[in-house]
Amino acid sequence: MMNGYGGYTGRILRIDLTRGSIDMEETWQYLPHGIGGRGIAAEIAWKEIPRNTSAFDTDAPLIFMTGPLTGTMAPFSGRTTVCGLAPQGYPCEWYTRSSFGGHFGPELKYAGYDGMVITGRSPEPAYIKIHNGQVSLEDARPLWGLGILDTQKKILGELSERWRVFAIGPAGENRVRIAVAATETESASGQGGFGAVMGDKRLKAIAVCGDGTLSIADPNRFQRICRLVRDEAHGSHGWPHTPRLDPALVKAYGQRFQACTQGCAVRCYDARYYKHVPSKLCPGKYLAGQIDCIAGLFPGAGGTFYDWNLGFEAGFELSQLANNEGVNHWELLVGIIPWLRYLKTDDPSTRFNRTKIDPDDMGFWVEVITAISRRKGEWGDALAEGTVRASQSLRVGQDRMRLLFPAWGYAGHWDGHGDHINKIFFPYWLVSALQWAVDTRDPISSGHGYVQNIMGWCREHSPVHGLDWDVMIKIGEKVYGTADAIHPLSDYNGKAFPAYWHGQRSVLKDSLPVDDQIFPRIFSRKTEDHFANAEGIPGPNFEFEMFTSATGISWNDELFMHYAERVVQMERQLLIRNFDRSRQDDETVIPYFAKPENRINPFIGTHVSMDPDKFRKLLTEYYQLRGWDPQNGRLLRETIEKFDIPALPDSTQSALESQEMG
Ligand code: SF4
Repeated sequence: MMNGYGGYTGRILRIDLTRGSIDMEETWQYLPHGIGGRGIAAEIAWKEIPRNTSAFDTDAPLIFMTGPLTGTMAPFSGRTTVCGLAPQGYPCEWYTRSSFGGHFGPELKYAGYDGMVITGRSPEPAYIKIHNGQVSLEDARPLWGLGILDTQKKILGELSERWRVFAIGPAGENRVRIAVAATETESASGQGGFGAVMGDKRLKAIAVCGDGTLSIADPNRFQRICRLVRDEAHGSHGWPHTPRLDPALVKAYGQRFQACTQGCAVRCYDARYYKHVPSKLCPGKYLAGQIDCIAGLFPGAGGTFYDWNLGFEAGFELSQLANNEGVNHWELLVGIIPWLRYLKTDDPSTRFNRTKIDPDDMGFWVEVITAISRRKGEWGDALAEGTVRASQSLRVGQDRMRLLFPAWGYAGHWDGHGDHINKIFFPYWLVSALQWAVDTRDPISSGHGYVQNIMGWCREHSPVHGLDWDVMIKIGEKVYGTADAIHPLSDYNGKAFPAYWHGQRSVLKDSLPVDDQIFPRIFSRKTEDHFANAEGIPGPNFEFEMFTSATGISWNDELFMHYAERVVQMERQLLIRNFDRSRQDDETVIPYFAKPENRINPFIGTHVSMDPDKFRKLLTEYYQLRGWDPQNGRLLRETIEKFDIPALPDSTQSALESQEMG
């Protein structure tokens, strides 16, 4: 444990694919203030992504970063964070992040590295091979054209099943802006289009294997904390109840729970494994693999907005096809298919290339997925740029697109409007709206903490295991300082602080990193007052306790949250320097929310739309909590000093001032 910090390996790989050079740097230069993961990436991005850099520029870095808990016995801790300029971003390729599970991150740590910074473009397709500290660039020409699952199979066949492989498919190779990169059968860096950045760099895959171990600063305390956190865990998503397997699917396809990442301590709604699923596209062939998260929508969900009817087997196979091609599931299921259905409703003669739009037809899906990943035909090539850009280039369905895409090029999520899966009603989506307004992507991936907790524990959605509102409101007062944060009739009051606080929690989840579906722990069925607690440790402090006992960094929880907020401020300053990010940009979310919500708060009884003026006041309240100028949403001088944030270059400062003088 050099320099006294446990949990880290102390080394970050630096690979320049143009020169074929492999170097290392010390992680310690970014610590402790960088925390890990997203925090360290923000430091690197500020220095190495100058203004006017595009996602496909040779020198644009793609940053993979684990954190101090990755690879340790910390529950729900096996994730890896990817950061960089995002091809999926709209109207510009915003700097952003994406995280993925599986076992790749822990294996990278056991191989001796906390992360990698990849720049350049390989002259020929290549893959990175990392084995116990040894790193080499391997010829990937034989792999080029293969899918993500097939690439993994080929590399593991050549090396051994012990290895972990993160790869791209045809969508990444064709620089599709909604291309994913993934490991195992279902752990993808889904949002952001980072698969396209790997494709642009001709980086087909990263294979890693390590036998190393990690040292922990205070092993006894760490072990005790991890046990407490594991034992305190409730159901998946931090919800009160545990899902059951479907007896019919168990009998037919051996359905079983399979965690999406190392260290998971619960049975999860979102993570199930199946085997012996007969293929419809290749009769006689049988499929096996996981269906996680949104992929559960592929078969269709009768009686909902997503009521196509493909059946389990076809849905399972299409999920695997999209995984193998490397096409973003969320964009496909929450964005593209609903958008195409709208177009058909508006004009039944509309065709996808020459194919009839029919979500009940498996052939239609195969055409959509493969046309996008291989940029086939006018519609395939257009949607390879993402739905928002496609609606413009195809000059069709822009109003319909705006019903599904709140901002920044991403389909809705926990917003009460375009996302019809997650049950949420007013006033709770006001917090989501604030999170969307100040983010650069769908914020909910690491921002579930507020909406998912409240909607998962309220009696309306958990009649048996849920909590009464008076109990939840009292806990809300404890966590957010006001009963209005959770009261179902609180309107716009008390909504700025939860969005502010969960901004830091989001950073911690992407920096330690830990599972977004579980943390922060707030509600409980295991304590008398239903506030999460384990032997005197309040639920919201679990991450702090794991972090300090693993690393030996002697912060108090106030400093922990301070440095988490420093990452929020660093990222905002980078957006201002590189993209002139302003209040005007943030307010572009308003039209999406200023439409009737898709569910009703039982205490209100009618569908509510956002009131733009009230929301603008709320946004100002949020800016004041952040120390941002209410006029333009930029960091105030005292905020720059408080968090020791680099100042904007004079050129940017004067450009922004002349803009304001207009
Ligand atoms: S999403 Fe979270 S709870 Fe679900 S399997 Fe993954 S780690 Fe476990």
